[in-house]
Amino acid sequence: MTGTAQYEQSEIGQVKDEFTASGTAQCPRCRVAMTRREIGGGSFGLGYARRREWLICPSCHRSAIFDVRRGTRN
Ligand SMILES: [Zn+2]
Repeated sequence: MTGTAQYEQSEIGQVKDEFTASGTAQCPRCRVAMTRREIGGGSFGLGYARRREWLICPSCHRSAIFDVRRGTRN
């Protein structure tokens, strides 16, 4: 088994920065808009201060999972 392709950590950082800034992100490799998936936050015990985001590239099917700090805006 070769497993599924993964981003480099630095690429996940790019995705996270872009998503945090603009609410959307592009795949660092394909330059296409990534699809956002919802993850149930409760089971991760992250509370309301953080949100776990899961973005998937529709082209290469790599996925990036990261936590976004929600701050106090809500
Ligand atoms: Zn891609």
